[in-house]
Amino acid sequence: MPSPAPLRSDTSAAPTPAVRPDRVHRRTFLSGTAAAGGALAATAAGLRPAAAAVPDRDSAAPAPAGPPVTVRPEDQRYADLRRGTNQRWVGSPEQIVLAASTADVVRAVQQAVDSGRRLAVRSSGHCYEDFTTSQDIAVVLDLSRMDDISYDESRRAFSVRPGAALGRVYDRLYKGWGVYLPAGNCPTVAAGGHIQGGGYGSMSRRDGLAVDHLYGIEIVVVQADGTARAVTATRDPDDPNRELWWAHTGGGGGNFGVVTRYWLRSPDATGSDPTTQLPTPPREVWLSEVAWPWEQLTEARFTRLLWNHGDWHARNSAPDSPYTALFSQLKPFHKSAGAIVLDSLVDAGIPGAERLLRNYMSEVGAGVGVTPQVRQYRRVPWLHATQWPGFTGPDPTIRFKGKSVYARRNYTDAQIAAAYRHLTRDDFHNPSALLMIASYGGKVNLVAPGDTAVPQRDSVLKYQVVSLWNDAADDQANIAWVRECYRDMFAATGGVPVPNETNDGCFINYADTDLGDPRWNTSGVPWHDLYYKNGYRRLQKAKATWDPNGFFRHAQSVRPA
Ligand SMILES: Cc1cc2nc3c(=O)[nH]c(=O)nc-3n(C[C@H](O)[C@H](O)[C@H](O)COP(=O)(O)OP(=O)(O)OC[C@H]3O[C@@H](n4cnc5c(N)ncnc54)[C@H](O)[C@@H]3O)c2cc1C
Repeated sequence: MPSPAPLRSDTSAAPTPAVRPDRVHRRTFLSGTAAAGGALAATAAGLRPAAAAVPDRDSAAPAPAGPPVTVRPEDQRYADLRRGTNQRWVGSPEQIVLAASTADVVRAVQQAVDSGRRLAVRSSGHCYEDFTTSQDIAVVLDLSRMDDISYDESRRAFSVRPGAALGRVYDRLYKGWGVYLPAGNCPTVAAGGHIQGGGYGSMSRRDGLAVDHLYGIEIVVVQADGTARAVTATRDPDDPNRELWWAHTGGGGGNFGVVTRYWLRSPDATGSDPTTQLPTPPREVWLSEVAWPWEQLTEARFTRLLWNHGDWHARNSAPDSPYTALFSQLKPFHKSAGAIVLDSLVDAGIPGAERLLRNYMSEVGAGVGVTPQVRQYRRVPWLHATQWPGFTGPDPTIRFKGKSVYARRNYTDAQIAAAYRHLTRDDFHNPSALLMIASYGGKVNLVAPGDTAVPQRDSVLKYQVVSLWNDAADDQANIAWVRECYRDMFAATGGVPVPNETNDGCFINYADTDLGDPRWNTSGVPWHDLYYKNGYRRLQKAKATWDPNGFFRHAQSVRPA
């Protein structure tokens, strides 16, 4: 997300017997400037999931963060822990359990099952909707203390616990082994919900999505008989739990169980040297930020700028394009912000890097008739660049609403016209309301649609209509602006980006409950097909197998087949 004002274990779990701890009856959207070998088997028909043995810790791993902590309303910490990043929602759970180990998670889930309480799992609380804060949630299982990152030799993969924030993931993987995961831009988003939602970021054109490097998961599930247990699932072709792995390559959080560990290894990695199991990031990158002042932009100039931008991406987003080294976010802010901002990054180590960046900026600005202001242009080491406000996120006390789009080609004239109309409205003023348009495609599009649960594998842009604000009194105006802008941009397809030759649906990591609301989606295409397309049926089968009682649920969770 962009920043509000423009202008300025572990544990290597070996596949052994299932862990049933005593069956204890037991930020920063916007930026810019402005604004395992698993356990058993699930047979095809009755699919009885088999429990894999999952020791809670391996001997080489650091000790867990201490005993679990339970916070109740009378506890001082409750005020902080009852909410996530989006301040539009504040939950009222009876208790918040801060787990420190897989055994803690099994225990907490079992207790919730046994007592008939609704439980929601939270890693960092960056959810766009109220999936962990709705008023019917009695227990929040907070995994933020489970944040270990280590190399698991037994699986030749990096073990990342769900509470690990992406900034920490980048830091630990790079400093320890010189590798990285192409994941999201906001350093405070946690691996927990992010990876299984198909996480993408500024390096995805170069190295794919986070899930393209997901080797396996450890997850606590609830069986049909109400028993909570940890199982593992990997992408190994002979893994009987492979469909459970697949469901976590884009199915989104809160659907099948509690992921207590990710194992990361690129599909083409060989050998046992950890420094070759994930991609190496660039040594340095060029960062640039330019801005077109709104006062110099007419509708014709705005249209040219957007058209150039979409056209460039349609021409330069093939997996073998030299421009896979380049990522940008175009941020057409509401005119009250004063400018439209283009933040860009290019791998400084590729031949002609600066030339590619200059070419890009000049093609986007060609014929607009306005010379953009250069606000930043500098070369920085890669790890430093992961903290660049141009791409990182917002104030964690903010309120926001976002709605997402996958685009396969340039924007239509009608889409640009609708965007212009809403960005220049005089009856709405918020300098942190914008379109946030990210470069997409490149290596993301090397993967076949059904290989992961992210079916959108030929898009060239991924964007949001989004607004951020501070006061509850402004909720209605901002939510209405986002809804109306999006509805009008996709008026030709029922108010949503229905998969067709121009668009390809929506992104589950940017969850949007409006997609299931007939007032805002008149397309006849259900919310789940906008996110998952034909993959939804496969996710439903996984749901029926692994969460047959529907214990894990939220407003847009996968329904059992
Ligand atoms: C400021 C900001 C910037 C963002 N930037 C990006 C970006 O660059 N790229 C991108 O792809 N996305 C981005 N996102 C979206 C983000 O990836 C999703 O919101 C993601 O779901 C957040 O996961 P979380 O664990 O941090 O959040 P949470 O709110 O804790 O969880 C989100 C959902 O996942 C479930 N969940 C969380 N942990 C687990 C777990 N361990 N097991 C099972 N279910 C779990 C929750 O129950 C909930 O349904 C951004 C979001 C924000 C707010």
